[in-house]
Amino acid sequence: MRFSQLIIPTLREAPADAEVVSHVLLIRGGFIRRLTSGSYNWLALGVRVLRNVERIVREELQRAGAQEILMPVVQPAELWRESGRWDVMGPELLRLTDRHDREYCVSPTQEEVVTDLFRRVITSYRQLPSNLYHIQTKFRDEVRPRFGLMRAREFIMKDGYSFHLDEDSFEQTYAAMHRCYSAILDRMGLDYRAVEADSGSIGDGESHEFHVLADSGEDVIAYSPASSYAANVERAEAVAMPRQTDSQDLEKRHTPAAKTIESVASFLGVDARQCVKTLIVHAESEPGLVALVLRGDHQLNEAKASRVEGVRRPLAFASEAEIEAALGVGIGSIGPVGLELPIIADGSAHALSSFVCGANTDDYHYLGANWTRDVAADVRVEDIRNVVEGDPAADGSGPLKFMRGIEVGHIFKLGTKYTEAMEVTVQDASGNDVVPLMGCYGFGVSRMVAAIVEQCHDDDGIVWPDAVAPFDVHIVAVNNVKSTDVQTTAEALHRDLEAAGIAVLLDDRDERAGVKFTDADLIGIPTRVTVGERGLKDGVVEIRRRNQPHTEKLTPALLVERLTGNPANASQ
Ligand code: ATP
Ligand code: MG
Repeated sequence: MRFSQLIIPTLREAPADAEVVSHVLLIRGGFIRRLTSGSYNWLALGVRVLRNVERIVREELQRAGAQEILMPVVQPAELWRESGRWDVMGPELLRLTDRHDREYCVSPTQEEVVTDLFRRVITSYRQLPSNLYHIQTKFRDEVRPRFGLMRAREFIMKDGYSFHLDEDSFEQTYAAMHRCYSAILDRMGLDYRAVEADSGSIGDGESHEFHVLADSGEDVIAYSPASSYAANVERAEAVAMPRQTDSQDLEKRHTPAAKTIESVASFLGVDARQCVKTLIVHAESEPGLVALVLRGDHQLNEAKASRVEGVRRPLAFASEAEIEAALGVGIGSIGPVGLELPIIADGSAHALSSFVCGANTDDYHYLGANWTRDVAADVRVEDIRNVVEGDPAADGSGPLKFMRGIEVGHIFKLGTKYTEAMEVTVQDASGNDVVPLMGCYGFGVSRMVAAIVEQCHDDDGIVWPDAVAPFDVHIVAVNNVKSTDVQTTAEALHRDLEAAGIAVLLDDRDERAGVKFTDADLIGIPTRVTVGERGLKDGVVEIRRRNQPHTEKLTPALLVERLTGNPANASQ
């Protein structure tokens, strides 16, 4: 195709709102343009990359035995009421009403619709297992759309759903999808990691995320260099530490104005690791409150805490006024000693002895506190914190290290969450009604385009992996408007390469060579061919790989032979 006939609006400057390199380069390279917050138009180059990602996803899914279908974007509210998610989803779900006042939402995901479809078309165990997917637009009214395609409001997802009669069948498909996602990322040549993950509001079971490794990633992955263990920090299990044994006397100290762990620790001259902090959250049953106790240097993991029995889900912190009313003490001085609330202590906080904690009197703290001797309340020990670097790994190896990743895929075990709520049954071989198990497999097709750029770029622009590049070869015709030789050779190369099935972008614009080279580097097509008068005098053109510094001179005939692998295709 000819550059002059495509709209490729390259820019020299980065857009003001772009914070990450993929956003900058995809805009500067003319791949996408913003419509409104979190939604983008795809221009010719962008669509070609998107279609390549989709093609690879389709091919691998087909290989894994999944069938492609297509489901609607606008979904009736009744189905979401049936599953119980109409209220759970909150403002991320874009809701609308039609002319008859019927309620709908714009698809953020498709469990309800696919389960409804399934119950209408599947009746017998003979039709199982069944693995369905589609590639479709999604809308999620994200709190903070950002990073261009990475966290958009409107985006393109491959979402797939499988249905099974039994656990064995589910496990087989789950493993096949795990292999399928790995194969997709392998074909794109990316550095990625499959990690244990939290399944959020979508399901309650096992799940794995696939992360493309990049410093700009929003997720932190805890991994063990000594083993294959890797988990999203949202999920990574904190291993309980052995109990300390030293024992000091309990001592109450005045700690004026020391409200945070840092200020208490420095005022008392102790390490934050020897202090505990106490957070008050709402209990499952109104109007109860629950105390969560963590070691001073640790952070609460809200997803873990909200799964603990007795804690309200989603997690809700008590307000200052609620705490004052219930406990008669301000937020900075709460502690487990003498507290009249149920306590959930993180394993590491519970392993301390002789610790520092709030004394439940404003501006006072205890030193030398001890769980068994001093805490009367009902204490349950749970894992409610984020792991930190240096912790042991849950598989017994470690110490854990952290790296950043971009979540491009997520596979879940849904169990019977939707099939039960939506009353789906299938008859098994002996005529009994069985509620089928479900799996769910999401892949961020448009986010993938950004993730590739995050990993594949240099100072000059994008360096597309061959598998997804918008074109295979970029012919830069230097001074083509004035030189008939250049024009003829470039056109012949364009024709012969395309005839051999190679996707070619011919820069036939009336632009200076410098502009063309800068654009070629920015756009990042893997192979660049330069056709110029100087080279043609010696009968050669130049070839350069985008990811390599050196160029090579070849006759046009040899060039075609090299790129097509076939001497018969050679230009004259
Ligand atoms: P995240 O934690 O990033 O919000 P999620 O857990 O909400 O992701 P899923 O519901 O599992 O994501 O969706 C499946 C895939 O869709 C994700 O792995 C991701 O690649 C993609 N995706 C999710 N939200 C967005 C978004 N706002 N913009 C672009 N892609 C997205
Ligand atoms: Mg999300």
